[in-house]
Amino acid sequence: MKIACITGASSGIGAATATVFAQNGYNLILIARRSEKLNALATELAQQFGVQIHQAVVDVRNAEAVATVVKELPDYWKKIDILVNNAGLASGLSTIDKGDIADWDVMIDTNLKGLLYMTRAITPLMVERKSGHIINIGSIAGKEVYANGNVYCATKHAVDALNKAMRIDLAPHEIKVTAIHPGAVETEFSIVRFHGDTERAQKVYEGFDNLVAQDIAEAIWFAVSRPTHVNINELTIMPTAQPVASVIHRKL
Ligand code: NAP
Repeated sequence: MKIACITGASSGIGAATATVFAQNGYNLILIARRSEKLNALATELAQQFGVQIHQAVVDVRNAEAVATVVKELPDYWKKIDILVNNAGLASGLSTIDKGDIADWDVMIDTNLKGLLYMTRAITPLMVERKSGHIINIGSIAGKEVYANGNVYCATKHAVDALNKAMRIDLAPHEIKVTAIHPGAVETEFSIVRFHGDTERAQKVYEGFDNLVAQDIAEAIWFAVSRPTHVNINELTIMPTAQPVASVIHRKL
């Protein structure tokens, strides 16, 4: 059975992706900080689909913890076929002159450095086996910028650049690299962005059909299920009502 390692598996796109992989018979390494959420998902997927799950409660911002978790994987679990670099967040939404430096740090440390730490820990295992596929979850914010999105957009532009650079570095080792760039997906994303203000978060998705996590999980599955000679470089996936990052047609 093949193995997928998914970061940010406790919620949203990561949890939906874990479910699609389990449906397709993958054993899973699930990574996030909230152990109770990971536990609940792992139990459900193991029962429903009969797959094996290895949970790792780790903060991807901690380079040492990430390296240790991967180093201490039992040999079987080191044969990772797919790495989904999904853990990430937006924190705050304000102009550059009023930005909160703590928000900036958490976004840079998670979206950029966390993705790098995971990639650095797992790619040598893929290089050794001359096989693997990395899926980087970017964003429309990595393709365009929008008002008040400054640092989040910068981190996702960095993911876009890294996605292209990784592909060049890893092609000689027969490793595929794909970026998925979603527009507005209703998950815990806006609750996290607005620091737990659920009312403000709900307003983000009012009056239009936003994407749901399953839409992105299916696109990830499409990318990983192509034949060996086909690499999907990137997919940008938007709600029909959101033609560009900063325009949403709402029926209110
Ligand atoms: P979500 O529901 O908030 O899920 C984010 C996941 O990331 C959670 O499982 C969270 O788990 C994990 N995470 C956050 N910080 C972490 C850390 N330091 N260490 C380990 N795990 C961490 O949001 P989502 O929408 O599914 O977001 C997933 C990805 O999609 C992110 O990279 C986001 O930027 C991207 N994206 C989202 C949208 C959108 O509209 N929702 C659009 C474009 C791109 P714990 O809190 O348990 O650690």
